[in-house]
Amino acid sequence: MSVEVVRIPVLSDNYVWLVRENTSGEVMVVDPAVAAPVLEKAAELGWQITQIWNTHWHPDHTGGNAEIKAAVEAQGGSCIITGPAAEAGRIPTLDVLARGGDVVAFGTTTAAVIDVPAHTAGHIAYHFGYEGIAFVGDTLFAMGCGRLFEGTAEQMFDNMRKLEALGDDTAIYCAHEYTLSNGRFALSVEPDNAALAERMAMVTAMRERGEPTVPTSIALERATNPFMRASSVAELAERRLAKDQA
Ligand code: FE
Ligand code: ZN
Repeated sequence: MSVEVVRIPVLSDNYVWLVRENTSGEVMVVDPAVAAPVLEKAAELGWQITQIWNTHWHPDHTGGNAEIKAAVEAQGGSCIITGPAAEAGRIPTLDVLARGGDVVAFGTTTAAVIDVPAHTAGHIAYHFGYEGIAFVGDTLFAMGCGRLFEGTAEQMFDNMRKLEALGDDTAIYCAHEYTLSNGRFALSVEPDNAALAERMAMVTAMRERGEPTVPTSIALERATNPFMRASSVAELAERRLAKDQA
């Protein structure tokens, strides 16, 4: 595996992902909510940040952009910030505007940009096909999906199909540790789902030990995620509304 991913837990439940492409040594940050813990971790590892990738405009995904770029430049480096073209007006720090179907270069590898609107209107995901990993921001979570702040259940239903199509073995790096709360809701929707019960027992034990439950995988989500498993737009909409009110 030429790409190495390090988890940086920040704020109450955000995960920032620090990613290194080992052939080139290039390092990028996915969705930096804040700067300081990211800069500290990079320094500790001896990694020099060269890029930031944002999935959507929310401040807990972009708040560290300017400070990280300034810190990198102060050390004589450069830091290119890539994010959703459709949200450029709300992310003033962007250098490169990415659209669905674009390919973003990272060292010797590339990621495909996938449009996944719904949580925000311009939300994108980044898929490293060769490595089998995807950074999905606030679109798909372990046993959950993002709230529909700027989009529709129909869009989220389509997003589930797009992400499912990445294949069972794809590792899914989402931006929050919402697993237990999502899992409790999932069990209320599918109390007889054995895979779900088994997963909940596992993640409950992991959380009790203080361990993260992310990344997840498409296979796990296909078996346990009530939003990915919704059989129609209407069912997804109903489940999303119920979860919002839970
Ligand atoms: Fe968000
Ligand atoms: Zn978020």
